[in-house]
Amino acid sequence: MSGRLDGKVAVVTGGARGIGAAIAHGMTAAGAIVVVGDLSAPRTGDSSASYLDVTSEKSVVAFLDAVVDEHGGLDILVHNAGIMFEQGLEGHPLERWNEAISVNLTGPFLMAKHAVAHFRARGGGNLVNIGSIEGFSRNPDHAAYSASKAGLHGLTGALAIDLGPMGVRCNAIAPGWIDTELNAAYVDAHPVHDEVIAQLAELHPVGRIGDPGDVADVAVWLAGDESRFVTGQVITVDGGRLSRPPLPRIIDL
Ligand code: NDP
Repeated sequence: MSGRLDGKVAVVTGGARGIGAAIAHGMTAAGAIVVVGDLSAPRTGDSSASYLDVTSEKSVVAFLDAVVDEHGGLDILVHNAGIMFEQGLEGHPLERWNEAISVNLTGPFLMAKHAVAHFRARGGGNLVNIGSIEGFSRNPDHAAYSASKAGLHGLTGALAIDLGPMGVRCNAIAPGWIDTELNAAYVDAHPVHDEVIAQLAELHPVGRIGDPGDVADVAVWLAGDESRFVTGQVITVDGGRLSRPPLPRIIDL
């Protein structure tokens, strides 16, 4: 994919590991100058990185200003930072709800808000938000996560409308089960590990769970010119999982 993003300056939030790290790597390979913004330093990688807390407007402004000072502008913003946890409704602390909304929804709002002036200075730009299939369908005890991701899908469309006239496209990716630390605990801690892997694979028409690179390739496409007439969309990257309604396993279809 070398050359697709030549000369572009890209920011990837939450890019220290997992899906964000794969997107940073993919965009670098496609020719972009990539800056990762994260609470933690990247484990590995080929992009530069700075501290960023997407929930703090002060941190967002300082981070974006530093990127533009160092690299001369901003062309691509990938909002990937996100958190997920299980919490039943009755005992749900308000702080936990606010935390999920703050990272998963207010964060992308703040990043987009402060990227606009930099995009305008360049005559356009590109926003890619990482949503989730849980913005469409839900797992138990995920009220805060699901609501924040559905909200992010809505924000994506709204930004496409508001920023389209200035040459900014905005799309989201809704990943399914991707093999990262966010999900590892459910698999690694399970007493019948191999059976978990097998049953997870069964949920996917393609016969496997996702790899961070599966999401990264779509992000690179969305950020590049080959998708120039695509905006306001949420693209599901889930190996077909959402396309197949579940059936009782006893029915042999
Ligand atoms: P990980 O938990 O592996 O990585 C998330 C990264 O975001 C971490 O480096 C984390 O830093 C960082 N982060 C968290 N809070 C903030 C913050 N306030 N400011 C800046 N950075 C922050 O997650 P994944 O790679 O699995 O997921 C990436 C995105 O994809 C998330 O939005 C997630 O909801 C979404 N997604 C993931 C799926 C999956 O199956 N993995 C499926 C669908 C969607 P730290 O380590 O310091 O907390």
